[in-house]
Order: sequence, then C-alpha cells, then structure tokens
Amino acid sequence: MVQAEGVRKHFGKLEVLKGIDLTVQPGQVCCLLGPSGSGKSTFLRCINHLEKVDGGLLMVDGELVGYRRHGTVLHELREKEVAERRRDIGMVFQRFNLFPHMTAIDNIAEAPVKVGGISKSEAREDAHALLKQVGLADRAHHYPAELSGGQQQRVAIARALAMRPKLMLFAEPTSALDPELVGDVLDVMRQLASGGMTMVVVTHEIGFAREVADTAVFMDQGVVVEAGDPRTVLTNPEQERTQAFLSKVL
Ligand code: ADP
Ligand code: MG
Repeated sequence: MVQAEGVRKHFGKLEVLKGIDLTVQPGQVCCLLGPSGSGKSTFLRCINHLEKVDGGLLMVDGELVGYRRHGTVLHELREKEVAERRRDIGMVFQRFNLFPHMTAIDNIAEAPVKVGGISKSEAREDAHALLKQVGLADRAHHYPAELSGGQQQRVAIARALAMRPKLMLFAEPTSALDPELVGDVLDVMRQLASGGMTMVVVTHEIGFAREVADTAVFMDQGVVVEAGDPRTVLTNPEQERTQAFLSKVL
C-alpha cells in the first residue's frame, strides 16, 4: 500500500529526510517512532503530498504520489488530480481540525456530500454508523466545543473514514490529549487496525506500537535507524540509538 524508496526532503539547507525506505503491506499497521525533529511528520506529509519529495520514489497503492511518469520523466500532477488521489488517504492530525461551526455529524458528512457525490441522507446515515463505531452515537448533534479532546479526535477519525480511505495516516493523534482521554482514541485505532485498515501512525505510545503495529520504524535525524517486528525494535533493539531513545521514553 505504501512503498518508499530513498525518499529525500530538504527545507533550505536542512536535509530532513535522507533516503527513507519503507514498505507497508495492505492491512498492516506501521508505527513511526523517534525523537522530535527526526522527520516523522515530514515523511507522513510526503505520503499524501502535503510535502513534495525532492528525491526517491514514493508510491501509494502502486501509484506515484503527486506525479505521473512519462518514460523516465516525472511530471507533477495538477492540484485537482492530487486532491483526487488524496481522497483515498485519510489523515488524522494531532490537533483535531474539526469545523467548529458544524456538529459532529455534519463534520463527518460534509466531505462525502461535497466531494464524494453522495446524497445527503446517505452521508448522514453513514456518519451515524461511523459515530457509533467510534463510540459517540449519542454525540451526533454536539459541536466540537461541546466535546472533550478525545471525543473530538474520535470524530476526526470518523470524518476521515467517511471518505472510505484505503490508507489512514495518523500524526501523533493522542499527543494533544489529556492522559485519561488517550485510551479511548487508541481503542478506536486498535479496532480499526483489527478491521484490516492499512495505517501509518506517528506516535509516542510505545505500548500501542508494541501491541498493534506489524512494523515499528525508528527514525532519527532523517534516516531509518531500525525497522521490523515491534517486539524486537521496541523491546530488544539492535541499535544503540534506538536503545537510548527507548530508555528515555519508557
Ligand atoms: P518530527 O515529526 O520527527 O518531530 P519533523 O518532520 O516535524 O520531525 O521535522 C524534521 C525537521 O524539519 C525539523 O528540524 C523541523 O524543524 C524541520 N521542518 C519541518 N517542517 C519544516 C518547514 N516547513 N520548513 C522548514 N523546516 C521544517
Ligand atoms: Mg512531528
């Protein structure tokens, strides 16, 4: 579902991604971990072309992200075409980014109606089912300001799912939450994973990564230091840098 080969990215003189290789099979969960500034968010943003890669190849479901290939030359897609491809990729951010003037259900039903071409009644029916799935059936008509951070994040997940994505990206989805609200969000993600969703998750939740991830990827300073079975990478890492990181966060 995701294939990165030698992905590079720099901001000015700063090389943030120095050749990232990573493969995520359909139905798998890949957790990205690493110290602040290691390039995790940038890499995640490259997957849906919110950032342009400067080198290497990045494919989602067999298609180049943001580009079309003519022979050996890559042409960047137009914004409209990028938006079309992005529809297959759900993204959940650290800050929930819900529309503040819309109720939970309207937040969820908005995109399917506006860009998915689904009827309003069908979209609302779907949205109700999704709210139930994230444990918020009774909060359909609440505005974001009337919901806790954890509830808002679960609405944000439901909103991303409403477009029927084939891949979900999570950018530190629980980092902005009060500790007691983290569990409910992780439960929803765990359930999504066991339902077969392909997920790439940037997280500091080592326990979640150990339990749910098929692959754990430890990044530092723009490179993948170590990747593989989370029981190895996050319990008995081979690399000193991974060990040092884990000893700080555990
Ligand atoms: P992480 O998510 O692992 O904390 P980031 O991908 O957010 O790391 O950032 C990696 C590096 O890139 C950091 O040094 C950050 O300051 C820098 N960076 C990220 N986005 C930009 C940007 N838009 N412009 C300039 N530098 C950036
Ligand atoms: Mg980040």
